[in-house]
Amino acid sequence: MEFAEFAERAAEIEAESADLTIVSYLADLFRDADDDLATVARFVQGRVFPAWDSTTLDIGPRLCHEAIARAAGPNVSADDVEDRLAEQGEIGAVAASYDFGGQRGLAAFGAGGQDGLTVAEVDSELRALAAASGAGSEDTKLKTLYGLFNRTDPDEARFLARLVLSEMRIGVGEGSVRDAIAEAFLVADADATAIRDDDADTDTEAAARERRDENIATVARALQVSNDYGMVAEVARDEGKAGLDDVHLEVGRPIQAMLAQAGTAADALDEWETAAIETKFDGARVQVHRDESGEVSLYSRNMEDVTGALPEVVEFVEDAVDCPVILDGEVVAMDDAGDPLPFQEILRRFRRKHDVDQMREEVRVELRAFDCLHADGDDLLNAPLTTRHDRLATVLGQDSKAVSDLLLSDDSDEIAGYEADALDAGHEGIMLKNPDAAYSPGDRGKNWLKRKPDVETLDLVVTGAEWGEGRRAKFLGTFLLSARVEDASGDDEFETIGKVATGITDEQLVELTDLLEPEIERESGKEVDIRPSVVFEVGYEEIQESPTYSSGYALRFPRFVTVREDKTPETADSLARVERLVESQ
Ligand code: ATP
Repeated sequence: MEFAEFAERAAEIEAESADLTIVSYLADLFRDADDDLATVARFVQGRVFPAWDSTTLDIGPRLCHEAIARAAGPNVSADDVEDRLAEQGEIGAVAASYDFGGQRGLAAFGAGGQDGLTVAEVDSELRALAAASGAGSEDTKLKTLYGLFNRTDPDEARFLARLVLSEMRIGVGEGSVRDAIAEAFLVADADATAIRDDDADTDTEAAARERRDENIATVARALQVSNDYGMVAEVARDEGKAGLDDVHLEVGRPIQAMLAQAGTAADALDEWETAAIETKFDGARVQVHRDESGEVSLYSRNMEDVTGALPEVVEFVEDAVDCPVILDGEVVAMDDAGDPLPFQEILRRFRRKHDVDQMREEVRVELRAFDCLHADGDDLLNAPLTTRHDRLATVLGQDSKAVSDLLLSDDSDEIAGYEADALDAGHEGIMLKNPDAAYSPGDRGKNWLKRKPDVETLDLVVTGAEWGEGRRAKFLGTFLLSARVEDASGDDEFETIGKVATGITDEQLVELTDLLEPEIERESGKEVDIRPSVVFEVGYEEIQESPTYSSGYALRFPRFVTVREDKTPETADSLARVERLVESQ
């Protein structure tokens, strides 16, 4: 497929607001994509790599602006691009406002320039760019990007710019891609028409909806276990429902973690009569994969590969496990007496790429596993929690302290005693789980409840900052925080809720500036806009209603706690959570 055609179809989708119509446009695009189906299914979500693959293009706004400036000609600088961004508010519109296309113009006159871009070419160039590393890689990235922009017309430039910054923003969320895969390759045309037709007979329409929902569920399951929209789209097209039913978990490919809501023992017992209770470990989530050959890999909650940072967990699993498995758990930091250390300590180890051996001496970490998703060829996602936990104990050894203690109880006093013991031992609280529930990846449902007495903190996205004064003028000092709001299509928007400047040491100011400076989108005076990418955990005294910030709320006395390196803007706290907290104040 020509990239120009992809851009034209993306523009058509962007201009549409009705969800069903978006799904049908997407379905048409998928049917027409032929060999490029997998790529197109990712591109519409602003992705080059499958969701399980944590490889990123690693292109910050500055690099993208520089590439656009170069393609726009010798009189345009990255500052000009940023000025236009300040006016137009969106990088796609800025890229579309320049006239690149020089080489294509020559080609049209037979002067030996290059032809138009194809989807496959954009994909392979961006993949090559992602692989560039080490000295000179910035330059290679800039050249590749410049080369791509140089061959685009305004519509292509609009979507290329958004794609390289992973902000497609055409109103296509994961749900619309899932539904469109079903509509394109599984749902009978007659059913799709009956659902869309306002005059259809109600019985016919209800039956059509039921069949469509079954097809969507088939696609959803395949997506949950594979995390690969491109592959699932191809399997749906080439092998239909039977092929999708045959998509399984694959050791070495992380899946999304199941999440928890806040809740109490009374909630749990009302709902399930008997609850499964576990310690809530104060560490970082980790998914453990051990393949047929014995190789172990570890993934964070963002599905990032953290194997290199945690060698003692790798060694532990190599020793303890002798079949292929996927386990879910927490890595915790321990003091010499074996008592848990605070969460900040584990963050010093997690995702670390340098000085791992030295840090290993300073902060000891251990695995606490609480779930088993796959063991020795058996996918266990649909098995009840108790069965999965039994399997976990079999895999790691019945008496292993790496296996969470799971207490089944229908007695609130017994649960209160368990909670008091957990807190005495220095843990964060307890988890209450539905003993019969399946493991639902990515779901923050009612089957897992977390209970912790700590004062609440919020995990908020940094969307702006201010340069400091005097000796701190080279450092970002005050940080603008935003809560996440999911719009109708499943895209995330960010609404401001406060500024934090207290609780940050001089050393942290340097680190935070290093972390955030590459993400600056535009500057005006001392104030900068920052691309949503970093999540701060912040404490506060109270949340007040306030017209000062776009969320309608403001934090009173906000204080910096830590950078949540294990979180992305997509998993930061939502405005809905803020509203729940306001109600409970
Ligand atoms: P929090 O800041 O409270 O950890 P969160 O947003 O990071 O919240 P939640 O899903 O709300 O994550 O809380 C559940 C988290 O608690 C899990 O992601 C996991 O990292 C951790 N956890 C600790 N012990 C357990 C356990 N026994 N079972 C499940 N999750 C556990």
